[in-house]
Amino acid sequence: MLFKRAKPTSPATETFPLTDTLIDFDDTIAKTPDHQRRKHELSRAPAKRSIAEKWMIAFSLTGLHLLATITFYQLDLIKLSTVYALLGMLALMILLFFLVFQFKLNLHFRERRMKLPIVSVAFISMLVVFYLDPATQIIFTPFAFIAIAYGMYRISTANLMFLVIGVLLAQALIIGLHYQQGHNLALLRLEAMHFIALLLSLPTFIFLIGKVQHLHRVLNKASRKIKYIQADAKRDVLIDCFNRRYMVAALEEHKLLSDENGTPLCLAVIDLDHFKRINDEVGHLGGDEVLRTFAKVAQENVRASDIFGRYGGEEFLLIFPDTSLLPALNTSERIRAQIEHFPWQGALQQRVSVSIGVTQYIPGESVLELFSRTDTAMYMAKQGGRNQVVVEEPVAAPIAAVTPSA
Ligand code: GH3
Ligand code: MG
Ligand code: MG
Repeated sequence: MLFKRAKPTSPATETFPLTDTLIDFDDTIAKTPDHQRRKHELSRAPAKRSIAEKWMIAFSLTGLHLLATITFYQLDLIKLSTVYALLGMLALMILLFFLVFQFKLNLHFRERRMKLPIVSVAFISMLVVFYLDPATQIIFTPFAFIAIAYGMYRISTANLMFLVIGVLLAQALIIGLHYQQGHNLALLRLEAMHFIALLLSLPTFIFLIGKVQHLHRVLNKASRKIKYIQADAKRDVLIDCFNRRYMVAALEEHKLLSDENGTPLCLAVIDLDHFKRINDEVGHLGGDEVLRTFAKVAQENVRASDIFGRYGGEEFLLIFPDTSLLPALNTSERIRAQIEHFPWQGALQQRVSVSIGVTQYIPGESVLELFSRTDTAMYMAKQGGRNQVVVEEPVAAPIAAVTPSA
């Protein structure tokens, strides 16, 4: 590698209007809530409920039902055998669904979370308990609502309605059986009273849930739309890489991370050489194609953690988080060489090259200062004859250039 030593003479603002740059790299942005939101968006994936959490919810609901049943037993309202029966059914139910999920049998169904079968089995166990001990009808009523609420976002209103009709029919049958077994008129009246309350309230509840489901669907749709818009807002659609807005936000974010963690941070400014001439040779559409090819080659030559995007026109930025100057210089040089030796066709043969300026972030400087130093280094590469990488050593060291012949 050959390092040329020279002092930068051209101000960074020659290539970029200062006002433009100032707006983008205004450090006060870093202190606004908007920045905090962006920082959050840049660094975190949306939280999803883990499988353990989902099991916890299911366990808590069945656990509560069991607790209520045990309490009824403690109050001498029901038999011990009923508690055992419920325990057995719960264990069986948990084992059944554990195996279904463990062997991924749920993937064969449209509704992979299996909410309808889970809620149906829960109802069956509650109905069996009710058959065994009429006093448990009091527990059945509130837990019927809980079971339906548990499945409300995954089970359609029509299916919920069918389920409830089935449950009510089964309850009516059990009430009939209880009467047939004991001819107890007082019990029949009590059970019928509960049944009528359920008969009137459960379908109404399903109707109201339909409204909530509708709202949920609308919100889901809007949230998907926002995600698409957010993804689009980050991209440069012509070139298929990150856009200026995203790059500036990412640079601000990584400057703050570097300040917080003391990790090194490097930045490269890449400019295509004599792009005006290239446009003249192959037209603007041809020029666009060159930009796309360049971006593709550059993105293939950076690590997943590096952030590459278009700053504007034929100028690109490359952020190297947690990277010191030498690896950043090596990557930049690799991109430069790849573009020089790319099999460009026709009039483009041996005409496409890039000039790159690379610098390391000096703790405490503003992003504008970092960008200006890097842009100046890129300018030095232009002045040095283009098709080269110029690196400015951190802490006010002189500028050095890597020539293509190195
Ligand atoms: P230098 O080596 O000094 O950078 O020369 P240059 O010709 O590349 O620089 P200059 O800034 O004078 O010209 C940049 C050209 O890039 C002018 C503009 O028409 C062209 N350009 C900017 N954006 C696009 C684009 O999106 N597509 C195409 N095809 N051309 C673009
Ligand atoms: Mg150029
Ligand atoms: Mg330019």
